[in-house]
Formats: sequence, C-alpha cells, structure tokens
Amino acid sequence: MSKSIIIIGAGMGGMSAGIYGQINGYETQIFETHTKPGGQCTSWNRKGYTFDPCIHHFFGCKSGSSVNQMWHDLGALPRELVKIEACTAVASPDGKMFVDYYDLAKLKETMLKLSPADSKMIGQYIRAIKAFDNDQVDDAINIVETDKFFIVETESGIKK
Ligand SMILES: Cc1cc2nc3c(=O)[nH]c(=O)nc-3n(C[C@H](O)[C@H](O)[C@H](O)COP(=O)(O)OP(=O)(O)OC[C@H]3O[C@@H](n4cnc5c(N)ncnc54)[C@H](O)[C@@H]3O)c2cc1C
Repeated sequence: MSKSIIIIGAGMGGMSAGIYGQINGYETQIFETHTKPGGQCTSWNRKGYTFDPCIHHFFGCKSGSSVNQMWHDLGALPRELVKIEACTAVASPDGKMFVDYYDLAKLKETMLKLSPADSKMIGQYIRAIKAFDNDQVDDAINIVETDKFFIVETESGIKK
C-alpha cells in the first residue's frame, strides 16, 4: 500500500509539505478552505487596485544556504534574486524617514540621527544583530537550530 499524507491548507507551508511529501514517495492531498491556493502569499484586485500582501523579501536566501536550496527544491525561486539595500522604510508624520538598512553601520547611523537619546539601546540592538552576523543570518533554519536568544534591555527597563 502506498504511503499518503493529508495536508490541511494550501499556503506556502502546505504546498511545500505536499512537494516534499511527493519527493519522498508519499501520495499527497491538500485541502484548502479558500477558492484559491497561496494563503497569505497571494494577491487580489479590487476597484482597480491590486492588493499584494505576498512575500516581498526572501530572507536568508543567499546562494549555498539551506533556505536557498529549499526554494530551488520547490521550483519557486525567481530566476534572478536582487540584493536590496534596506528591508523597509517608514516615514513619520513630521517627515522623518527611518530606513532599515541591512548594512549595520548605516542602520546605526540612521537610528542615532533619529534618536540620539537612545544611543545605549541602539548600541545593544546592533550588537545583538551582530551576534548573528555570520552564515546563520543568511540561513533561517540554522538560527532556529542554534537556539540563540538575546535579551535587549530598553531604557524603560523592560526586557524584550
Ligand atoms: C503583508 C504580509 C507581508 C509578508 N511579507 C513577507 C516577506 O516579505 N517575506 C517573507 O518571507 N514572508 C512574508 N510574509 C509571511 C509569509 O507570507 C507567510 O509566512 C507565509 O505565506 C505563511 O504560509 P503558511 O503556509 O504557513 O500559512 P498561510 O499562508 O496562512 O496558509 C494557511 C492556509 O490554510 C488555509 N486554511 C486554514 N484553515 C483551514 C482549514 N480548517 N481547512 C482548510 N484550509 C485551511 C488558509 O485558507 C490558508 O490558505 C508576509 C505576510 C504578510 C501577511
């Protein structure tokens, strides 16, 4: 008798489980409550606008990482990955712009300019990121496996 798996939900997780299941010789069936697959990774049109909440950044995807390999296995990696300078940018009502640079020196400089009073906490934040500043930062799976946690003490004394 062939081995089979029933998967609930056709989001990226469910569809990946289906593909890996089949690669490993299982028959797979995916049950999805919505009319189309994709889960959070989808888009829709309304009144002439396209709403696109799907993935905009592929994290931890550098060539050679296990996440990169996973996207290849799934046949879901775009033909070309574009390396960008910043993760996101947020403008405050008074016109100040926070740019979440991947370059830690630039990120620190931006944050210090926006809030010099938080210099101690900004330093702790940057140091905490640097603790992951090796292959683990490019490989989300390894981050989970290494089980590293960081406590950042904020100015108000709250631990996060
Ligand atoms: C605005 C936004 C931006 C994002 N940006 C990024 C990004 O830049 N980079 C990144 O890596 N990630 C991003 N993400 C996260 C990423 O999209 C999700 O982590 C990923 O799509 C989740 O996939 P999933 O399969 O775990 O869950 P989901 O996509 O939530 O899929 C679950 C599926 O299960 C179905 N379901 C639920 N209950 C049942 C049931 N009882 N029976 C049948 N079907 C059921 C649902 O309809 C859904 O289709 C973003 C998410 C959002 C919302």
